[in-house]
Amino acid sequence: MLGEQLQIFVRSPGGARFFTWEPPSGDTPIAALVESLRTEYPRSQHGPIDLIDESSGKLIDPDLSAQEMADRVLGIRTGYVSDALNQLEALRRQEGPAFGYRHEPGTSTISLDLSYPGLDRIDSLDGSGIVVKGRHRATLILPSDFPEKPPRIFWQSSVFHPNLAVDEEVWPPRYDWADAPTLLEFVAALIETLTGDLYHVGRRFSIRRRRELNPQAANWYRRNRQPVAALAACARQDRHTPIDGYPLDSVSVDWELQGELSGSDTTVFVSRQAIDGIPEFGGRCAAWLIGQTGRHGQADWLYVDRVTSRVGHGLSGAPINAIGILRGPGESDPQLEHDRPLPLDARVRDGGVVLRVDSGDLAGYMVEVDGASSTEQAPQPPQASGRPITIKGPSAEQAEETIEAAEFGAPPEGAEDAGRLFARDLEAPICMYCDIVCVRSEDWGACADCGFVVHAGCLHQLGGCPNTDCPRSVLEPRSTANP
Ligand SMILES: [Zn+2]
Ligand SMILES: [Zn+2]
Repeated sequence: MLGEQLQIFVRSPGGARFFTWEPPSGDTPIAALVESLRTEYPRSQHGPIDLIDESSGKLIDPDLSAQEMADRVLGIRTGYVSDALNQLEALRRQEGPAFGYRHEPGTSTISLDLSYPGLDRIDSLDGSGIVVKGRHRATLILPSDFPEKPPRIFWQSSVFHPNLAVDEEVWPPRYDWADAPTLLEFVAALIETLTGDLYHVGRRFSIRRRRELNPQAANWYRRNRQPVAALAACARQDRHTPIDGYPLDSVSVDWELQGELSGSDTTVFVSRQAIDGIPEFGGRCAAWLIGQTGRHGQADWLYVDRVTSRVGHGLSGAPINAIGILRGPGESDPQLEHDRPLPLDARVRDGGVVLRVDSGDLAGYMVEVDGASSTEQAPQPPQASGRPITIKGPSAEQAEETIEAAEFGAPPEGAEDAGRLFARDLEAPICMYCDIVCVRSEDWGACADCGFVVHAGCLHQLGGCPNTDCPRSVLEPRSTANP
């Protein structure tokens, strides 16, 4: 066998074509094979490529060496795990820290972290209560014939919801994969399910995926439709103001003109994340453009902050902060129906972004300059230290170490830097909303009405108390019915 050329066989999607790859050496990573397949399967048409070991059906880790795959037959897959990860990344760029995901390399399993408000039930000695929780987890599993077949989703965290339950396989009610086979929309529907925008409490459905997983929760949702709607509305609403006043007056953002400003009295400003997100979303699905409108002198302006999937299954119409629509592929009706007129209309044409304002094509718009430096250039104010640190004796090198030690708490003589252990109060408060310890006293405050411990930041983000029995609950006004 010595000197025989190492070979790997590759089969096209659908099996119509067969290739042989001869790597330069056994150490060459499979990633090089993926790269050489680019001439046959350009990224612009096919997106990212995954390789499957046809004998085991397993996803190939591109870091494996060619030697490890010698003489195997690998199937080419497009629109599979790498493509799914691209969609989740596009979603993360728009959703910010509220949405996170982790992928175990070489698998088709992806964990989702959803930091959105959803209900949970807490049982204690003095009865049980419904609380709003801000951290939830789910696991997404892509079947080997994804995206022809839908993903499977397993809920991983405690939740009080008619259609979600811990350790159960779940599905967003009314979501049909055949209609919308993209993770961008699917995960958006899952988030809408969690936040109460989308749920099903009817008894008539017998289809496995639409059954009520938690009849108690279904009863509660049935009796508390208004507060559930209030929760959904609170989850949809952006609490921060993305831009303060006329965008051009902003000191922290620089703008660049794309095209020319003519033909419209309205100036459109598009954030960096939105200009990246429009092609990512528009090529796959329909979306809302979220942002602000305003007037400067005689002229109107629009600011597009981010893009969010227009699933269309939610109970509410356009989000209150929607200023426009992004058309999905094939969505060409001149007038789209939604519950209120939105001034901006975006579409992706030949990979480029086309904007229309009040049904006239826009010749140009302002785009946020990448990595605007002005946020970082503020000089550090000199340290207003109380007592100066006095260093005795040793060399400058040692002196530096002494300063660090003095600042961060000196470890015992000869100890490795393994961090320090502090004895803490056993009753260290844990935030009822996000389940994270409130580290410093200024981080938290008990709710003045019910005594729930919540981070000040979480209270602000949620816009009220997570205890649904509290007068300051975000679910107010609610019925007096108890679960
Ligand atoms: Zn918190
Ligand atoms: Zn309270």
